[in-house]
Amino acid sequence: MLLPDAKRILLKLSGEVLMGEQEFGIDPAYVLRLAEEVKAARETGLEICLVIGGGNIFRGMAGAAQGMDRAQADYMGMLATVMNALAMQSALEQLGVDTRVQSAIQMDQVCEPVIRRRAERHLAKGRIVIFAAGVGAPYFTTDSGAALRAAELRCDALLKGTSVDGVYDADPKRDPDATRFETVTYDKVLANNLKVMDASAVALCRDNAIPIVVFSIRERGNVARVLAGEGVQTIVK
Ligand code: UDP
Repeated sequence: MLLPDAKRILLKLSGEVLMGEQEFGIDPAYVLRLAEEVKAARETGLEICLVIGGGNIFRGMAGAAQGMDRAQADYMGMLATVMNALAMQSALEQLGVDTRVQSAIQMDQVCEPVIRRRAERHLAKGRIVIFAAGVGAPYFTTDSGAALRAAELRCDALLKGTSVDGVYDADPKRDPDATRFETVTYDKVLANNLKVMDASAVALCRDNAIPIVVFSIRERGNVARVLAGEGVQTIVK
């Protein structure tokens, strides 16, 4: 077991993984395969909070680079995360997993607002709570949203499923000599600007002593493998 004492974890998936092999948007078959991974994690007995990014649909920075007002573009990005959360909810429910979506931007017709005590109740009942719209404010990312929810719900770890299998001392896609850390400190990540999550998210995890487990979500079955301590990952602590 990677986290033998953990009772509750937060799993953060970047929006891009919902695209599957597509260039853009949501591939429902791939979302279903991710949902199977989340279900497997739930079946280990862990309580699961889920945060999904929006980069497969819209990123505020990209909009701003094309001349849009940054805050306006960021709100569009937040709305994209709600679409992804609904897609994941649908896939999980197809698999018989009980879920609730809570959005940091109120959208009464489609999901609940973020209410911490209510989320606690859902988790105690075994439901997976999917938190959408990040922190609900522009100039942030869903990484910060994930760190914030992990802190307020006292998660024992934040698992970040991404396209690389950990944190490297250089970009592994460009530098063949790049080596992966087994563990690395929050301060080293921040000082060396290592690509894990944005700095505000890393700092929030550091200040609340929440370990960050970075692993590849591209390989099938990896969530369960990493949780069982049989996977490849980097732990930031
Ligand atoms: N966003 C935001 N505030 C938040 C969370 C997200 O403004 O608290 C916007 C921001 O524009 C961001 C976009 O939503 O680029 C999508 O989120 P993110 O880039 O974190 O998605 P990911 O990279 O994980 O797919």
